[in-house]
Amino acid sequence: MVLIFDRETDKLYHARLMTAHAINIPVINSLDFARKALEFRDTIPLLRFSRLGEYLAASNGSLEITLIGKADSSGKPALHLQVQGVLELACQRCLDSFEYPLDVTAEFVIVASEDAIPSPDSGEYDDEVDYLVAETQMPVIDLVEDEILLTLPLAPKHADEACSGTGRVELEKPSPFAVLKGFKAGKSQND
Ligand SMILES: [Zn+2]
Repeated sequence: MVLIFDRETDKLYHARLMTAHAINIPVINSLDFARKALEFRDTIPLLRFSRLGEYLAASNGSLEITLIGKADSSGKPALHLQVQGVLELACQRCLDSFEYPLDVTAEFVIVASEDAIPSPDSGEYDDEVDYLVAETQMPVIDLVEDEILLTLPLAPKHADEACSGTGRVELEKPSPFAVLKGFKAGKSQND
């Protein structure tokens, strides 16, 4: 069930039907969404996040998404995003899967164009927020997936005490195939 509604008019907001699993994940007009203080709340299966898939040891489960349109403290159109759930990631040291609790909160200020993004050394720049160029057709799932990918560790690992790996397999890149190769090479050297 997609809960997306216009608090001013009570009319259902346009939601584009996605084919796989027939779940509606809206494509929004980001500026409208903020100005009308719209809200989107839904549970989205992990399977729907195509780019996230390569980081997951298992793609069952789902994430709770909340997107709220609002004005920021100085009245600029803004979005508040919250993503919560548990990801099953592959530890890049021992290759076992482990649960990674995800609780992402992000604030976006919507600007008319890239030129309207304040420069980082200007007094107007706020490093607590992300600047988002207004789009009339912004897929919510892309915003959510970008934000998750930004928060994931480059090489996810168990906490040291929970990991069965010995630390021999330390690789910079979180490629499961490279880790597997490194693991085998590490083993044979020690055999
Ligand atoms: Zn581990």
